[in-house]
Amino acid sequence: MRADELIARVRLPRARGDLRSYYRKVGTRRAQAISKVCLAATASTSDGRLESVRVAVGSVAPTVVRCRRTEELLRGRKVGEVPTKSARETLSQEIAPIDDIRSTRDYRLRVAANLLEEFLSSLR
Ligand SMILES: Cc1cc2nc3c(=O)[nH]c(=O)nc-3n(C[C@H](O)[C@H](O)[C@H](O)COP(=O)(O)OP(=O)(O)OC[C@H]3O[C@@H](n4cnc5c(N)ncnc54)[C@H](O)[C@@H]3O)c2cc1C
Repeated sequence: MRADELIARVRLPRARGDLRSYYRKVGTRRAQAISKVCLAATASTSDGRLESVRVAVGSVAPTVVRCRRTEELLRGRKVGEVPTKSARETLSQEIAPIDDIRSTRDYRLRVAANLLEEFLSSLR
């Protein structure tokens, strides 16, 4: 956004009944802690295959990152037959975490991929 702009409203479409969602923030404690990494994802399934996959990760780049290549890799895959290793690698290539006071680059890379895997496991 430009310096003189601000977000006044965010409109979200009503979630369809079959849409599964996942959000997890990883911080030093369960509450009142700034995230080291966080991941939000949604997906629906049709005939046992993933559809409408969305994956976004926070605290791993200058802004929240929508991981479109990871989404593309997952779309159309059969639930339970997802190429987990490739998905982890693709996600890792789409984010660019740094070492800072909250966490380290390596921790963030590993945990972001773990969260993606947890989301995929939750769809089974
Ligand atoms: C005191 C406090 C307590 C909170 N407690 C909770 C809570 O209990 N539960 C909860 O759900 N939320 C909590 N929140 C909110 C939560 O931490 C934020 O919603 C979340 O951090 C927002 O994520 P973000 O990616 O938008 O921004 P941030 O998490 O603020 O992202 C900043 C991070 O992005 C990374 N970054 C910045 N620039 C770059 C760059 N150029 N390259 C690579 N990486 C970069 C850095 O690692 C930096 O640490 C709390 C916030 C605060 C301030």
